Amino acid sequence: MTTVGILGGGQLARMMALSGAPLGLRFRVLDNVADACAGQFAPMIVGDYTDQAALAEFAAQVDVATFDFENVPAESAQWLAERVPVFPKPRALAVAQDRLAEKTLFRELGIPVPDFADIASREALQAAVAELGTPCILKTRRLGYDGKGQFRIKTPAGVDAAWDALGAQAATVGLILEGFVHFQRELSVVAVRGRDGEFRAWPLTENWHVDGVLSASLAPASVDAAMQATALSHARKLAEALDYVGVFALELFCRDGELLANELAPRVHNSGHWTIEGSETSQFQNHLRAVLGLPLGDTRMVGLACMLNWIGAMPDANAVLREAGGHWHDYGKEPRAGRKVGHATLRADSAAELAAALARVGDALGREAQVAPVVARLA
Ligand code: ATP
Ligand code: MG
Ligand code: MG
Repeated sequence: MTTVGILGGGQLARMMALSGAPLGLRFRVLDNVADACAGQFAPMIVGDYTDQAALAEFAAQVDVATFDFENVPAESAQWLAERVPVFPKPRALAVAQDRLAEKTLFRELGIPVPDFADIASREALQAAVAELGTPCILKTRRLGYDGKGQFRIKTPAGVDAAWDALGAQAATVGLILEGFVHFQRELSVVAVRGRDGEFRAWPLTENWHVDGVLSASLAPASVDAAMQATALSHARKLAEALDYVGVFALELFCRDGELLANELAPRVHNSGHWTIEGSETSQFQNHLRAVLGLPLGDTRMVGLACMLNWIGAMPDANAVLREAGGHWHDYGKEPRAGRKVGHATLRADSAAELAAALARVGDALGREAQVAPVVARLA
């Protein structure tokens, strides 16, 4: 009996545990809060991620360890890796945790990125804003997620407000300034690399964010074969450079037909949730197969799929459950403003059917605005 340990017990760990059950896997989760939602399906150890006693208890109970979030302290990942196989490896995690290291690597690999600059002081910010131009975005290098730790600078006069908001973090998590990309679309590649280096990717996904948080994903994204190939080649180069093992997502901005890399998520990703029902093998199961050294599953799609995120509170399930291709995921979390509490996936065999199902669900739930951009894309 193999036990997989997951650091972090959120919805990603929960869906991983659910997808690993048919493989006969057992799970242990380490989380710093007692009500982490993966704990409903896997025995949980509650403890701080830097607490050696908690880490030791965890390491003693698992055959292999992985993560459900990228902000695991690097020393903890390293400490664990000296005791039990850990995938992705701590170095890949370290690069993906730091927007500066990540963008520097993208650039080294010939993957286009938005303009960026390392920011250590108010003067450096002033100079970088003058060079990159406005609008631009000041971000924390580490620990940001769901658009947190970001400040948009609309005009040069916004420098002081940005520094007042984030400047104190320059000395702790670091800051990076990025040129604002006037993209037409946001895309992501979700891909997997096995222990033996085998690489597979799901079709490109198009994503819509609201206030920095993912709202909807559509797969396959309607892109031509050349763009699909470019995106996959970027993802493969990255995975090989990092000797990556497991599932990851590469977020891309598409501007005037060009792809710019935004960030690398070293884990299963929200924009890949549709793979549970929309693909031969889900991202969760392929992540487990990869970290365990099992053969990877086929990533081909079954029709088209759209995922809708539920943020804050769960809507009524029935509108989705009534749909032939409707699938419901309630993470079992307490409602809280801004929190990802669940998602729905709608699957269909044609764009017209998917658009019609989305329109019905949007109407029934009062979520017309959430489905509108997806319906428009499918038209
Ligand atoms: P995630 O939850 O995806 O990890 P995050 O907090 O790491 O989010 P980003 O992915 O950097 O943040 O940014 C969130 C969203 O903000 C992006 O998906 C995009 O919509 C917008 N955004 C970020 N950087 C830029 C940029 N340089 N130009 C234009 N829009 C941007
Ligand atoms: Mg991120
Ligand atoms: Mg992102």
